[in-house]
Amino acid sequence: MKLLEDRIRKDGIVIGADILKVDSFLNHQIDVELLAEMGKEWKRLYQDEKITKILTIEASGIGIACIAAQQFGVPVLFAKKSKTKNIAGEVYTAKVMSFTHGREYDIIVSRKFLTADDNVLIIDDFLANGEALRGLIKLVQDAGARVAGCGIAIEKAFQPGGDQIRKTGVRVESLARVLSMDENEGIVFTD
Ligand code: 5GP
Repeated sequence: MKLLEDRIRKDGIVIGADILKVDSFLNHQIDVELLAEMGKEWKRLYQDEKITKILTIEASGIGIACIAAQQFGVPVLFAKKSKTKNIAGEVYTAKVMSFTHGREYDIIVSRKFLTADDNVLIIDDFLANGEALRGLIKLVQDAGARVAGCGIAIEKAFQPGGDQIRKTGVRVESLARVLSMDENEGIVFTD
C-alpha cells in the first residue's frame, strides 16, 4: 500500500538491524486518517470473506483493529497479555515470545467471545518472527473457529514469520512488506 510505504519512508526510524520505529503515526501517536485507509484496504482484500470478528493483541493492535472493524461492521476482540495464572475453563490461552521485550508471556481471550461459528480476521501492527500471530491463530483454532486470514500493517519480510505462517495455509495480507532496512541506506519494500 503506497500510502503506508511513503509514510514509513518519511517518518519511520530504523533502529539497529531489525527494529522499525513508527511511533509518530502508528503505535504511540496515531494518524487516524491513515488507519482509516488501511482499514479500507483490508476490507478490499477480504471482501469475499464473511468476517464475523476481528482479533488482535494488546496494546498496539487495538487502535488499528478498531478502525478496520468499522469497515467490516464487526466487533474487535483483543487478546490480553496475562500476568496472573488463569482460571482453567474460562479462557483460551497461548504462549508468545515477545519480539520487542525478549520474554515469554501468556495471551488470553475469554471463551465467551470466540466461538466455533466465528470467521476471524486477525490484525496486528507488525509481523517479525510470527510469534504473536501464531499465538492468535492458536486461540482461534482452540475455539473451533476459522481463521479467514491475517491483516498486518508492516511485515519485515527479511524475518521468517510471514513465510512460515503462509506455508501453514493461513492467508497473510501485509500492507507494507520491508525487504531490507538500514539506518543509513533507508528502507526497501517488496510486493
Ligand atoms: P513477532 O511476534 O512476529 O515476532 O513480532 C510481532 C510483534 O512484535 C508485534 O505485535 C509488534 O508489537 C512487535 N514488533 C516486532 N517487530 C517490531 C518492530 O520492528 N517495531 C515495532 N515497533 N514493533 C515490533
